[in-house]
Amino acid sequence: MQTAPIVTDSRLIYPDIDYGVTRDLTDGENTHSYDAHEYDVVIVGGGIVGNVAACALGQAGFKVAIVEAEAQSMASDRGQAYSVNLLSVKVFEELGLWQRIRPQVETYRSVQLSDGDYGKVVKFLPQDLGRETIGYVAEHRVLLEALEYGLNALPNVDRICPATVTETVKKGDRTIVKLAQTSSQNSAQTLSTKLVIAADGSRSALRQAANISTFGWQYWQSCIVAFIQPEHPHNQIAYERFQPDGPFAILPLPNGLCRIVWTAPRAVADGMLMLKPDQFMTELRSRYGDHMGKLTLVGKPSVFPVRLLHSTRYVKPGLALIGDAAHCCHPVGGQGINLGIRDAAALVNVMQNALTRDEDFASLSVLKQYERWRMWENLFVLGLTDTLTRVFSNKIWPIVMIRRLSLWILQDISPIRSLVLRHMQGLTGKAPQIVVQYPKV
Ligand SMILES: Cc1cc2nc3c(=O)[nH]c(=O)nc-3n(C[C@H](O)[C@H](O)[C@H](O)COP(=O)(O)OP(=O)(O)OC[C@H]3O[C@@H](n4cnc5c(N)ncnc54)[C@H](O)[C@@H]3O)c2cc1C
Repeated sequence: MQTAPIVTDSRLIYPDIDYGVTRDLTDGENTHSYDAHEYDVVIVGGGIVGNVAACALGQAGFKVAIVEAEAQSMASDRGQAYSVNLLSVKVFEELGLWQRIRPQVETYRSVQLSDGDYGKVVKFLPQDLGRETIGYVAEHRVLLEALEYGLNALPNVDRICPATVTETVKKGDRTIVKLAQTSSQNSAQTLSTKLVIAADGSRSALRQAANISTFGWQYWQSCIVAFIQPEHPHNQIAYERFQPDGPFAILPLPNGLCRIVWTAPRAVADGMLMLKPDQFMTELRSRYGDHMGKLTLVGKPSVFPVRLLHSTRYVKPGLALIGDAAHCCHPVGGQGINLGIRDAAALVNVMQNALTRDEDFASLSVLKQYERWRMWENLFVLGLTDTLTRVFSNKIWPIVMIRRLSLWILQDISPIRSLVLRHMQGLTGKAPQIVVQYPKV
């Protein structure tokens, strides 16, 4: 433990309830002294992406603190489910967590893509990749619990939860991170670190405090999500149907459950939430079809805003953004969490390589390698999901013709189908490799 020096450049961050607002209260408050706990890395945000980074850094031997604002039960009760692509599976395998996750997730035997009432259906199959599967669907809770299990086995990682970061102060090559509330089990109030990793989601307070600008837009659509228990088995088939209102996806989950991700104009989506369950199900059935028999709603549906956002920089001295803090995209194609997991693995990979070359893992030149690696790959996927949404939520005749021609090409020319699938599964581009020092859990 050390007493940090007097600092002169301070910044206060007060997250509001959804951590979307920061206020700079530095005037007249620029002198503090701290009694700080020392870490190599402090990660702010214990969602899936922050936890992947913490696990990988911890296993590589870094001393890490991960700070999460939500109490554990709230975080794992989020009721979200994701398509997990094959690159993310590789990352979980390298962390030694996949065998824990695998029994609780569902495999895709086929992904079927269609355009409204148009008869042509593109079927992506495992043989397109020469593998046994083309991805998985996992609940947020399952991934989070496995990662927390992994973190608990690492003596060099401290989880500080629930707590929020209220102040970060850059001092030389270190950053002082001050926390608002800490749980009774953990007395750390102030942390000192070489590198802060912001994994605090799309409204990242750390990104705003660092004055990193973003570009993007809110879509005219929102996303309705719900769990459905169909009468007949889903046969491990995922459906993505493009409707003029927006894409409608059915994802297979364990125990015969299905997850719907239904994109609709914002007013329609908000209206759907106001409906009684039987009225909601009547509306849903018209999109879902009757191929799985009677449908039962499990739990309550919820609505998420849909936006595209990209940070103009991913790094600054002593700071790196990962996951939704750096970028977020339309949920079509289920890419969001996978991009974030790839960011986390790439950043850890770059930091480990720097250590083997005896370089400072937190130097701007090292962090820039991460930025160069990930920014263009992320921008490509953001562009692709945006194009898909605009082209398929469209009734202009020439565009309808082009997209139907694309479906023919995809279904009938298997090398193109397999190239698209390889891309969606994260099997193109540079794959990060995590080098583990500590035994896998
Ligand atoms: C409807 C919908 C469906 C989706 N479906 C898919 C899918 O099928 N597949 C897919 O890959 N992606 C999907 N996504 C995208 C995916 O949900 C996000 O990309 C992913 O959740 C981002 O993870 P993250 O860890 O970066 O951020 P988050 O999940 O937002 O986590 C950020 C964490 O930081 C914490 N935090 C925030 N501020 C602070 C602070 N100041 N101090 C401490 N902690 C803080 C928060 O409590 C939170 O736990 C979907 C998104 C939507 C909206």
